[in-house]
Amino acid sequence: MVECFTFGINNCYILHGEKYAILIDTCPQQYSNALLNVIKNKNISLLLLTHGHTDHIGCAGYIAKRLSIPIAMAQEDHILIERPNARPLFASTPLGFLICQGIKKQKTVPFFQPDIFLTHGQRLEEFGIQGRIFALPGHTAGSVGVWTARKEFFVGDAMMHIGFSLKPRLYENKSNMEQSFRNIWQSDATAIYMGHGTPVFRQARPIFKPNIVTIKNTTYLDCCKDMQSITKKIKHTKEEAHCESTK
Ligand SMILES: [Zn+2]
Repeated sequence: MVECFTFGINNCYILHGEKYAILIDTCPQQYSNALLNVIKNKNISLLLLTHGHTDHIGCAGYIAKRLSIPIAMAQEDHILIERPNARPLFASTPLGFLICQGIKKQKTVPFFQPDIFLTHGQRLEEFGIQGRIFALPGHTAGSVGVWTARKEFFVGDAMMHIGFSLKPRLYENKSNMEQSFRNIWQSDATAIYMGHGTPVFRQARPIFKPNIVTIKNTTYLDCCKDMQSITKKIKHTKEEAHCESTK
């Protein structure tokens, strides 16, 4: 089972195994308590960060401490914890440029030390999950995804469901980003869960090229039974998050 919680524009996922679950990504720091409240009784064994951008790691130290769980991320993004602008970000669209400016102004998050450095192919069975790490560099050098035995793909910001394109609007390395995007799209994933925007559910491998996709052609929201409950949960959490942030 997969649960999605959205805070602001950030998605956090709980990926459940038989006994344990892992939390994939956190959200901006101001949602720390709201996030903790919705995940605290879920038997979470690991906090896995898809990359080092502040909107995904903002509550990492707090959540890991409160739940007494290890934090895992790729070593390449370790530097971004203390220095969010350590490497330049590029954008190829006006929206990407705007997001880029926003990221540059973000404050450094409370420092935390990852317990595990993730590498491509690493398995997650010891945390109760039938899955493995898939390197998806480009958005950041240390971007990683989680590929599960059920053919779910958690891809962080290596794909973004914002507007009419799924391509990341900003990246450290464009050609790596494009390759990672192709790897995701050309996989036989039946569900793609992103750091921003709604998931994409697919019944079969697409036959059209990924770089000209539109939402209309790529989502099959009404054919997935899980979608309604996910959407409800997202709405519910958005309200909670809003209440939390206005206190
Ligand atoms: Zn990002």
